[in-house]
Amino acid sequence: MSGLVGKDILSAFDFERQDLFRLFILAERLKEEINDFGILNYAVGKLMVTAFFEPSTRTKVSFQFAMKRLGGDVIDFIEEVSSLQKGETEEDTMRILDGYDPDVIVVRHSKPFFPHKVKDMVKAPIINGGDGTNEHPTQALLDVYTIWKELGRVDGVVIGMMGDLKYGRTIPSLSYMLTRFNDVTIYFISPKELQVREEVIKKIEGKVTYYMVEKPEDVMEKLDVLYVTRLQKERFSDPQEYERLKGSYKIERAMLQKFKRLPIIMHPLPRVWELSTDVDDLPQAKYFNQAKNGVYIRAALLKEVLGV
Ligand code: ASP
Repeated sequence: MSGLVGKDILSAFDFERQDLFRLFILAERLKEEINDFGILNYAVGKLMVTAFFEPSTRTKVSFQFAMKRLGGDVIDFIEEVSSLQKGETEEDTMRILDGYDPDVIVVRHSKPFFPHKVKDMVKAPIINGGDGTNEHPTQALLDVYTIWKELGRVDGVVIGMMGDLKYGRTIPSLSYMLTRFNDVTIYFISPKELQVREEVIKKIEGKVTYYMVEKPEDVMEKLDVLYVTRLQKERFSDPQEYERLKGSYKIERAMLQKFKRLPIIMHPLPRVWELSTDVDDLPQAKYFNQAKNGVYIRAALLKEVLGV
């Protein structure tokens, strides 16, 4: 039996190194089976609820695809047409959804630690689909899975994480997950105002080598992976600060062409203006594959958590 059966997945630290390799191999196997058969029958009779209190495209839809591909069923809770509009609390909503006995609930919320708060109120395993600026553990799962597929290894990887490292939740989770590997180097690339938070640094200190730099140009040729992120406009309290920092970095084909060696380029998406579409047909651009990998790795995770 897998170590993840019935477990809540709240943080990237909930995965040990051996869990990650096992999930990567399972994702590869599920991908082949899905290509051969379309819909599988592992999760027949199982129900997943997606309870997203914040917008999502990829996370919600790829979890739904993953569950359906496993043969299970999906109930989508839609906030805009729910009793939240009548004043019901989100905690009560979670209790009610759980009372209908789903087998797993995937939850996203703009408040950091919302899934941690409700996990003891509900019986079903909770998977964190993103909690405010805190974490996005299943994004990290597909990010590291993509690195493993593209480079054939994660140990020894040199990665530049660029953009809004302060408010972007994919950055903490990816950094935490990389602590499970050996000899990883992270370059945190951003204007000083958007550098990675101290609480994140504390958790990776001594487990990876890291540097803080301001410009991607300074480290480009050292990198195996350039992980670009957008400015999290919705999390800026001061709109003027967003406007000021907007345009402080942008990856474009012309700037990439200056380098002899290019890393693979990843992005959790959505992109706004920080990653130009003229990069898309470079062989190093991996962000659409990365998004697609989300279905297979989330299917692997659901299969394990459901114990099917
Ligand atoms: N889709 C990712 C997230 O939900 C990245 C982003 O929104 O910038 O955190």
